[in-house]
Amino acid sequence: MKFVLVFLFLFFNSYSFAQPNNFVQDSIVLDKFKAYTLTESVCYYDLQNLCKKIGHRISGSTAAAKAVEWARQVLINAGADTVYLQPVMVPHWVRGKEDVILNLKNKKKIKLNPLGIGNSDGTNGKPVSAPVVMVNSKEDLEGLQPSDVKGKIVFFNHVWDQSKANPFHEYGGCVYYRWAGPSLAAKYGAVGCVIRSAGSAYDSFAHTGSMRYDSAYPRIPAMALSYKDAVFLEQLINKKEINQLTINSTSYMDAEVLSYNVVGEIIGTELSNEIITFGGHLDSWDVGEGAHDDGAGVVQCIEVIRAIKNARVNPKRTLRCVLFMNEENGLRGGKEYARLAKQKNENHICAIETDAGGTSPRGFNFSGTEAQRNKVKSWLNLFYPLGVYDFEEEGGGADIGPLKENKVTNAVMGLFPDPQRYFDLHHTHNDVFEQVNRRELSMGAVAMTMMVYMLSEYGL
Ligand SMILES: [Zn+2]
Repeated sequence: MKFVLVFLFLFFNSYSFAQPNNFVQDSIVLDKFKAYTLTESVCYYDLQNLCKKIGHRISGSTAAAKAVEWARQVLINAGADTVYLQPVMVPHWVRGKEDVILNLKNKKKIKLNPLGIGNSDGTNGKPVSAPVVMVNSKEDLEGLQPSDVKGKIVFFNHVWDQSKANPFHEYGGCVYYRWAGPSLAAKYGAVGCVIRSAGSAYDSFAHTGSMRYDSAYPRIPAMALSYKDAVFLEQLINKKEINQLTINSTSYMDAEVLSYNVVGEIIGTELSNEIITFGGHLDSWDVGEGAHDDGAGVVQCIEVIRAIKNARVNPKRTLRCVLFMNEENGLRGGKEYARLAKQKNENHICAIETDAGGTSPRGFNFSGTEAQRNKVKSWLNLFYPLGVYDFEEEGGGADIGPLKENKVTNAVMGLFPDPQRYFDLHHTHNDVFEQVNRRELSMGAVAMTMMVYMLSEYGL
């Protein structure tokens, strides 16, 4: 017993020396959040309900509408002072039947397992068959003769660079081929486009995601292949065994649909007109269950409300949880939220997004002034016991980007979870509830709650 008391004395003594005075008081509040979310919270079961009862929920779908009503109810139950919907028109892309077939010179046909790239046009059920031309990069394509590409299907075989320690540093480069590859191929006369998935896994799951047609060129069909299918196709091309590739798809863009951002607030007690927005996105791609991307972020943000209410803490500033609609293929929710905030001349101190998966938190990306970053970094000791140590990376989040662009806030942050498995999973059939670990998800929720609370008490 004596030993324990001596230990406690030394611990608190050293702790208080390490912290500015009021942070000792804060650490007691933060410990309450921690104890609650890591033991009795239903955050993980929220994710289970979202994934298993609603499932994937692309913008404009019936499932997305169900997710809106689900989120509204869960935010009310979490204890938000006020919960409301923000209407926004969203695109509705519909995936149809999709095929990529290899027609070999020996007359054999082999079906691959593709995923159409989101927003792309199908072939109206009429197969497009053509010889395939493989390139590794934009420069490779641009170096070809027009006759090498015209009337063919371009295969962008851009390989994910595994040598980068932070996979987010690789994603942008790979995603270029998904986003712009189809129109780049069409510019040179291609009739179809297939890409190696913008993902890091060595498996059979193709990654979908967003693309945009350049109106200057024909809208050609576009498909993503898994790592294994891409390697297989590459080998057959190198062995000159392929006669033609066939793409067939009934996917299409349907009419726009009325949907909503879901918002829940805790009204600040002292500086209620100063707002801290924190959010994730409610929509997902139309495969898997949108568990890491971004069900995890959604339930973590709801947990911030629940944990603060459970601790009976009255934050100084207004805390606004925003579950954005249509991050994946249009960003309409994020844009509308920023537009309204600007129109109402709201005072936003900071916006935080959690949209990088439900694994263990490692830090917060940040974009703002150096003074603001240093202020956040002065709280590091409070976060360090969670394994949250990295406040150096530049960043924020897609949905809160428009807030910064429109100068509604000058500081944005993004929760940075361990990134090593995220690009194996997101936008695939494999992004399911079972891929999320309860403890890791909850640790991310704790980090979010702590950051939101500190911003509420100290501003930025
Ligand atoms: Zn996302």
